[in-house]
Amino acid sequence: MPDWSAYRGVLVYIEHREGIAKKVGWQLLGQGKRLADKLEVEVMALVIGHNVGQLAEEAITYGADRVFLVDAPELKDYRTYPYSRASMKVIHEVKPEIVLFGATATGRDLAGAIATHLPTGLTADTTELDVEPHPSRLLQASRPAFSEKMMATILCKQYRPQMATARAGVFEALPKDPSRKGEIVQIDFQIQESEIAAKVLDFIQDQSKINLEEAEIIVAGGRGLGGPEPFKMLQELADALGGVVGASRAAVDAGWIKHEHQVGQTGYTVRPKLYFAIGISGAVQHTVGMQNSDLIIAINRDPDAPIFKVAHYGIVGDLFQIVPAITEEVRSRKGASFLSNSSNSSAANEEGGVRV
Ligand SMILES: Cc1cc2nc3c(=O)[nH]c(=O)nc-3n(C[C@H](O)[C@H](O)[C@H](O)COP(=O)(O)OP(=O)(O)OC[C@H]3O[C@@H](n4cnc5c(N)ncnc54)[C@H](O)[C@@H]3O)c2cc1C
Repeated sequence: MPDWSAYRGVLVYIEHREGIAKKVGWQLLGQGKRLADKLEVEVMALVIGHNVGQLAEEAITYGADRVFLVDAPELKDYRTYPYSRASMKVIHEVKPEIVLFGATATGRDLAGAIATHLPTGLTADTTELDVEPHPSRLLQASRPAFSEKMMATILCKQYRPQMATARAGVFEALPKDPSRKGEIVQIDFQIQESEIAAKVLDFIQDQSKINLEEAEIIVAGGRGLGGPEPFKMLQELADALGGVVGASRAAVDAGWIKHEHQVGQTGYTVRPKLYFAIGISGAVQHTVGMQNSDLIIAINRDPDAPIFKVAHYGIVGDLFQIVPAITEEVRSRKGASFLSNSSNSSAANEEGGVRV
């Protein structure tokens, strides 16, 4: 194997939209720190944009030892050319051994552009990241392959840095700690607007599209709902809680709700504060996408449903009676206060259900 001793440390790209970071960046900093600890190196963050100094400071509160900040007017909006050039400048100067990106549309575009130019190896859409300790220091980047039928663990032995994009919701962010100390390194980056072929005329947010990955509360329904109509009932509960509606693949395949709501192996991996699994049996392909949620409440009439194995609270009963009762209770307690008072987290049980 070539001598890669000049390459040390784990670098995480912090994606943002107009200065607001996507959660996946903080989640990857958390995982980056776990890898860095094993390798006995530092975890670093890469922040690119315009007037985004506050993001660099935020990256430190989420665990970064050092943050490389590339701030220029031409970097205001994401565009492949200037962002990939800025990233490559940092990578050439810093020489990290591992670089991680969120597997978002932007992260995939940026990581692909960088990897082909450096050139180096890139594993896309990983769901597990580990490292072999010194001396090999190889990143073990794992992802589902062959229509999800197997897990492939991919190594990059001949090139550095080792790069991967990773799914949102799989890894856990470190708790935000404002007292954490770190260093911010400004990187000088010059580019002429005339060098950049792409122009951003406008950014139009698709209001109709839900954002499961960023949602803090998800109310998900499955085949137990029996049709598309009852999803309105779930939407009412989600609205009362300030959350969004999720679904199992069975519900999506039946055409009751769009794929963008699907949670699981072939849908989104989510990590909300609260996840309701309603009329969902808890097949492993579903639970891999939601089992890391902070609090899981399952509602199912079958006491032996596997979903109760991953649920923190369970209600055995008919969802058509239980869900409207919870919605009413939440409304009467004015939404979010229901959540902030953890001693009341068994409120669902008051509806006559059974705690399992
Ligand atoms: C390669 C592959 C990838 C897959 N990817 C995904 C994925 O990404 N996401 C996913 O979800 N699945 C996925 N699946 C499918 C998965 O295996 C299950 O088939 C699916 O999750 C089942 O959905 P469900 O729980 O809604 O339905 P079911 O398994 O049919 O469960 C319905 C549940 O509702 C309960 N119920 C019925 N009526 C009521 C009522 N009135 N009140 C209360 N409870 C009631 C029942 O007791 C039952 O437990 C995948 C499968 C494969 C092979």
